[in-house]
Amino acid sequence: MARTAPSPSSSEDGLALPERQEQRYDSWQSIRHNWGFIAFHLAVLTVFLVGVSWPAVAACLITFWMRVFFVTGFYHRYFSHRTFQTTRVFQAVMAFLGTLSIQKGPLWWAGHHRFHHRHSDDEQDVHSPVNGGFWWAHVGWLMAYNRNDTRWNEIKDLARFPELRWLDRWYAGSTLVYAAAAAALGVLLEWLLPSTGATWPQVFVWTFVVSTVLLWHITYLINSGAHMWGSRRFPTTDTSRNNLLLALITLGEGWHNNHHRYPGSERNGFFWWEIDITHYLLTMLSWTGLIWDLRRPPAHVYEESARAS
Ligand SMILES: [Zn+2]
Ligand SMILES: [Zn+2]
Repeated sequence: MARTAPSPSSSEDGLALPERQEQRYDSWQSIRHNWGFIAFHLAVLTVFLVGVSWPAVAACLITFWMRVFFVTGFYHRYFSHRTFQTTRVFQAVMAFLGTLSIQKGPLWWAGHHRFHHRHSDDEQDVHSPVNGGFWWAHVGWLMAYNRNDTRWNEIKDLARFPELRWLDRWYAGSTLVYAAAAAALGVLLEWLLPSTGATWPQVFVWTFVVSTVLLWHITYLINSGAHMWGSRRFPTTDTSRNNLLLALITLGEGWHNNHHRYPGSERNGFFWWEIDITHYLLTMLSWTGLIWDLRRPPAHVYEESARAS
């Protein structure tokens, strides 16, 4: 029986990958095309209208840390680097949870991140502080260009899953899902804890707006600060640094020099004293059987590290 030709959705090689386009914006275009992003930042000021209560701040921090983990554990350590294995169903669950971070889709995120590793701090790196300074690496690279297109050539292994392509296309729907969940949480907390002064608009602003703006800038700090501040254990060809403070607030991503030396490791803190909360959470997740084969740095990387100290 003759073999059938691979269909676009079932074969890595058979996929017709769309052409990418990147367009440099002038200042006005940059504002016009990023109006939602700018409005989100300005909306933080509505905390002065809605006020504050402990349930609102708690909801803000819990949704912030949860989504930091969705970015670090799933978008970064799974989709970008494939540092552990999972089922196809849980892969789709991780992709969906990642979209709740409002940082575009899993394929977009992984494609840009893999490109960063291939071109770390060379002239093609889109968010290098060497090429443009702190603010360029932090947020300028996102606002000065149309960066909306996914880097399909970087993520052919992931693009063969139609459910991931679907989520990558419709990621914005998750913003609505998250907004609705934030409002529902607000209604619940207002009803359960009336004496705290929590109201649903207040919980909504803290959970949807403040938590998300915090999440964005903590993520961006790895592109900017983790290539500028800290120590260098490994003499990598880029400017990546290890920084305890960044590791604490980003759930382990601050061990960025380690990570650039061996991106295929599930843990970025290579030693027990390098606090890496994403690693602890992924380890606990592996106990459930949902993920397995968590990859570690090989012995020769530890030998290099011993020589460096
Ligand atoms: Zn980096
Ligand atoms: Zn990485």
